[in-house]
Parts: sequence; C-alpha cells; structure tokens
Amino acid sequence: MIIDTHVHLDDERYKDDLDEVLNRAREGGVKRFIIPGADPSTLDRAVEIAEKYNDVYFAVGVHPYDMGSFDGVTFEDYLSHKKCVAIGECGLDYFRLEGSDAEKEAEKCKQKEVFIAQIELAKKYKKPLIVHIRDASRDSKKLLLEHNAGEVGGVLHCYNADEELLSLANNGFYFGIGGVLTFKNAKKLVNVLPKIPKDRLIIETDGPYLTPVPHRGERNEPFYTTFVAQKMSELLDTPLKNIKEITTQNALKLFHIS
Ligand SMILES: [Zn+2]
Ligand SMILES: [Zn+2]
Repeated sequence: MIIDTHVHLDDERYKDDLDEVLNRAREGGVKRFIIPGADPSTLDRAVEIAEKYNDVYFAVGVHPYDMGSFDGVTFEDYLSHKKCVAIGECGLDYFRLEGSDAEKEAEKCKQKEVFIAQIELAKKYKKPLIVHIRDASRDSKKLLLEHNAGEVGGVLHCYNADEELLSLANNGFYFGIGGVLTFKNAKKLVNVLPKIPKDRLIIETDGPYLTPVPHRGERNEPFYTTFVAQKMSELLDTPLKNIKEITTQNALKLFHIS
C-alpha cells in the first residue's frame, strides 16, 4: 500500500468528484490520505472530509503565503480532534518576496514569527510538523534546530533536494517526495535521493499541484503516487513492493496512525 502524506483534498478542484478521486486511489493501493492545513479558510472542509472518510486525516497549519490568517488560539480547537495528525504546512518561502529590501526583510521576519509559533504549538500538542521550505533552507533549518523541533520531528514536504537539509534526518525529520521526481529537470532531486536514509522517505502528491509524468498539465490526484513510487523504485534499484512497504511504514510511524 501507499500513503499520500500530502494532498489538498479540501481544494475546490476536488469538490465535484472527491469520491471518484479517492476510489481510484484506493483501487491503486493508496490507503491513507493526509490533508495538510494551508489556508485556514478551507480547514472546516478538511475536517468534514476527514470525518466522512475513515482513511483521511488532516493537519492544522498556515502556509507562509497565507500567514495573514494565522491564529494560534483558533487552531487549538482543532488540535484535539482525533483525525488531526500534524501541524502544518508551515515554514518559510522566500520565492515570491516583493518590494524593497526593507519590505522583503519585514516579510521574512513575519514568516519566521508565524513558523516559530507553529513549531511551539507542535511541541505543546506533541504533533509532528509538515514543513514547507522554498528558497529558505538555511533559515528554516536554523529555526527548526533552535526551537528543538526534533522533539516532535516531521516531514520536509516536497523536499527541495538541498543537501544542507539532509542532516535533519538526525533530528526526527522525514523527506516527502512527490511528482517532481519524475520531471525531466529534476536532476538535483534524482542525485540526492540515494543519500536520504531509506527509513526517512515518504511519498506525497501535493495534489492538485505538481502532477507527475505522464500526467503533467492535468490536475494531480492521490492515485498518481504510483508513478512516484515507480520512479523511486527505479532510481534506488529497489523492488516497487519494498518501496511501498518502507515508505508506508515510515509514514505510519511519523503520523502515529495505523
Ligand atoms: Zn507546500
Ligand atoms: Zn501543499
């Protein structure tokens, strides 16, 4: 079986055919689904989906692009829900910073503040972190270490292939691998993949985004984790069955689900 550890099922692009999407995935061997929190405005939808389907879980968090809506207090109401398995996706994303240098610096500070608040929340509620990092490896690693995020661990979702982050494997962090692995220009990720300890690998789609080959350009969906597992199997020269087994065990362990 496969676990899709990161799929935005609360996105409106799944609204009309969610049953079909989930059934296609289940028939293809995908047996658990985790909806990361990103935009709090769809959090209630995520909870509703997790309550409707046994095999769907959710996380609570704010993506750095949506951090204006961060409210730690409101979040605490969701954290005790039995299907809530993690905090995130939270982290740092410097890719789209705009304005003057001073404005960029202020934006970075704000992102850090919101990230730290979520790390603290994760430790308080003993939940792993789903971490989103883009163009901000050094600062992200620094904050995770300074704030002892290793106490709860987590996943570097859509791992950016930055070798600087590999040592976080020793601090309870896993590496989320998705459709990017199948892209022609994914040289960096392809090269770094064998350096990730196998007991730290997990699979995700990040659907509806980052659709793997051969479906690029279409909406991504959990069934397509199959293509990621297949590619991983080729690159690591490990039977597909073993890749599924290892990544599933890793995900169950990280998110404390069965
Ligand atoms: Zn993300
Ligand atoms: Zn995401």
